[in-house]
Amino acid sequence: VMGNPNDWREGLSPWTLTEVGERWYGRGAADNKGQHAINIAALAAVHKARGGSLGFNTKILIEMGEEAGSPGLHALARSESAALKADVLIASDGPRLSAERPTVFLGSRGAINVDLTVNLREGGHHSGNWGGLLANPGTILANAIASLVDKNGVILVEALRPKELPAAVREALSDIHLAPGPSDPHIDRDWGEPGLTPEERVFGWNALEVLAFETGNPKSPLNAVPPQAKATIQLRFVVGTDGKKVVEAIQAHLDALGMSQVKATSARMDIFAATRLDPTDPWVGWALASIARTTGKKPALLPNLGGSIPNDAFSEILGLPTLWVPHSYPGCSQHAPNEHMLASVVEEGLRLMAGLFFDLGEDGPRARREA
Ligand SMILES: [Zn+2]
Repeated sequence: VMGNPNDWREGLSPWTLTEVGERWYGRGAADNKGQHAINIAALAAVHKARGGSLGFNTKILIEMGEEAGSPGLHALARSESAALKADVLIASDGPRLSAERPTVFLGSRGAINVDLTVNLREGGHHSGNWGGLLANPGTILANAIASLVDKNGVILVEALRPKELPAAVREALSDIHLAPGPSDPHIDRDWGEPGLTPEERVFGWNALEVLAFETGNPKSPLNAVPPQAKATIQLRFVVGTDGKKVVEAIQAHLDALGMSQVKATSARMDIFAATRLDPTDPWVGWALASIARTTGKKPALLPNLGGSIPNDAFSEILGLPTLWVPHSYPGCSQHAPNEHMLASVVEEGLRLMAGLFFDLGEDGPRARREA
C-alpha cells in the first residue's frame, strides 16, 4: 500500500507515528503493524508473568505480502507444513465489528472476478442501415447478466448460490448488528436474497456484483451497432461454493440459454477461497470465554469476514482451526490517508490477547483434546 504523503491531513505523515488524542496515525498503524505489535507485546507480558515461559510452544509467522496477493504464502505452507504444524492459529487482521466490541472471526468469504465478453465483428455499423440486421452485443450482454442476477441482486444460478445457511452460522449472526458510520452509505434492506437479514447477506451468503460494463463509447455514443461488449462481474462466496468452478458454471449456464456468444473468462485477480471454522468447534467457545472473562463484554462472533484474506493457507493446507482476533475498527482508514489506530482498542487488545495467551497455557490443551 502506497504512502501518498501529500494526501494526509496537515501535521500527519504515513511515515511517522503521530498521536492526536485517542488516535495514533501512520501507514500500517491499523493494518497491520499495530496488530502484530499488540500480539507480540501480549506474548511478552505472559512470558514475564509466568517467570520466563509461555506455558505453550509458539511459532510466529508475519505475512508481508498480503496486500499484493500473498505471493509465496501457499507454497510456503505446503513446503514447510512440518515446521508449521500446530494445534491452532491465532491471528490478527482487519477491523472489529465496532470500536467498542471485541470480535472473533473464523475465516473469510472467497472472491473471484469474471470477465464476460461478446465480440461479434470488426467495427461498428450505422444503426439506421444495419439496426435490425445485426445482433447487438450490448443487448446480448445485458440479457446475459440479467440471467445471472435479478434486478434485486438475487443470484439466479444454482451453482453460484450457497447450498445452505448453517444453523450455527445463522445463530452467530443473530447477535451481529451492522451499524454504518456517519460517512457510510445507507444499507439497502430490500437488496439481495429475500428472507435474509443484511448481516446474513454479507457474512453468510454469496453476492454477485457487476463491477464494470461497457459497449460502444459511453462518453460519446455513436449511432452505430457496436461490435463488442464487455463486463466484469465478481462473486463473493461463502464455504460451499468452489471458486475454481465458477467460470465453468457461468459458461455452462449461458450456453444452455443459447448465449454462447458470451464468453466467460477468469479476470486477472487471483481467486480467493472461502474458509470458515465451524462456529461449534471447541476452540471457538474457548476463545470467546477467555475474551469475555478479560473484557467483561460479550465478543462478537463473525463466522467469516465479508472480505477476503488468504486464510486457506492455514485452514486448508495446514489444516489448522483458525481464530482471528482483529485489533482495528471500521473507521481506521486502512489503506487510505490518515490511517490510524484507536488507543482504546490498543489497550483492550493488549489486555484480551494477554488473557488469551495466558489461558492458552492454562486450559488450551483441553480445547485441543475436545477439538
Ligand atoms: Zn490491508
